[in-house]
Amino acid sequence: MGTIIDGKAVAKEIQKEVREEVEGLKRRWGMVPGLGVVLVGDDPASHLYVKNKEKACKEVGIRSEEHVLPATASEKELLSLIHNLNRDKEIHGILVQLPLPAHIRSEKILEAVSPHKDIDGFHPVNQGLLLSGGEGFQPCTPMGIMKLLDSVGCDPKGKNATVVGRSNIVGKPVALMLLARHATVTICHSRTAHLKEEVGRADILVAAIGKAGLIRGDWIKPGAVVIDVGVNRLPSGKLAGDVEFDSAKERAGWISPVPGGVGPMTICMLLFNTLKAVKESLRRET
Ligand code: NDP
Repeated sequence: MGTIIDGKAVAKEIQKEVREEVEGLKRRWGMVPGLGVVLVGDDPASHLYVKNKEKACKEVGIRSEEHVLPATASEKELLSLIHNLNRDKEIHGILVQLPLPAHIRSEKILEAVSPHKDIDGFHPVNQGLLLSGGEGFQPCTPMGIMKLLDSVGCDPKGKNATVVGRSNIVGKPVALMLLARHATVTICHSRTAHLKEEVGRADILVAAIGKAGLIRGDWIKPGAVVIDVGVNRLPSGKLAGDVEFDSAKERAGWISPVPGGVGPMTICMLLFNTLKAVKESLRRET
């Protein structure tokens, strides 16, 4: 029977390290890390995500500054806000909460964020650096997944890793990170012909689909490390992952739950990246 990977505990540990470093920066350089949070419209889920991120910032001593624009705001207005945040010396990281309203081109906005302040790792420069193995900002959820693997002593080297999902924010970047750590990586998606077989080969399985219980427990390779990224609201109101948890747990070596697995890691990596942005700004100045 698999052991549960406690994302909350791992996140707490990393948060503690971030807090200590933030305190050190204040003592040594009198510097307070600043995060500019941009929110457009009144989607309740986005407001809740932003509140949670701001709360986490506060807990580690990062100053967050919220900029809320109405759903009717134009692309030009949003671009002008981003340019101001790019120039602001007290803002080290910029977070644009997605999704943006349909009339705004997300890619145009994400490209406008300075790559030095792109703590979400969505800018094409940072995506390119991830692809080529360079030092840039990497997206938070995939980073959190890699930290969870490390937390249970799972070295991807030489292992078969299957990633189900190929989005730019989770599937593709986590596949690249696993490849960089020498796993043999398979990426599956909605047109994959034999999903069950691909999953059955995985020593490491990352499910990032957005469909409750799509990955059946009896598909899991015995002893596999299973990371479930999916967040799905069931008709009962409960949250569920993409993997059938109870049956998968019987076969897996390790398994991350939903909630309490990847979710806390995503926010934690946002703090980590904001701290990294401050340290890099210091390096550029000295
Ligand atoms: P997307 O909708 O962008 O991507 C979903 C992927 O799943 C696509 O690549 C799609 O394939 C694939 N897919 C859909 N149906 C199937 C199927 N039947 N078989 C195989 N693959 C399939 O989602 P995201 O990557 O943004 O998010 C995935 C999940 O992770 C969501 O539940 C989201 O809420 C959650 N999430 C959780 C986070 C956290 O912090 N806990 C952070 C980010 C996301 P195709 O490309 O062919 O369409």
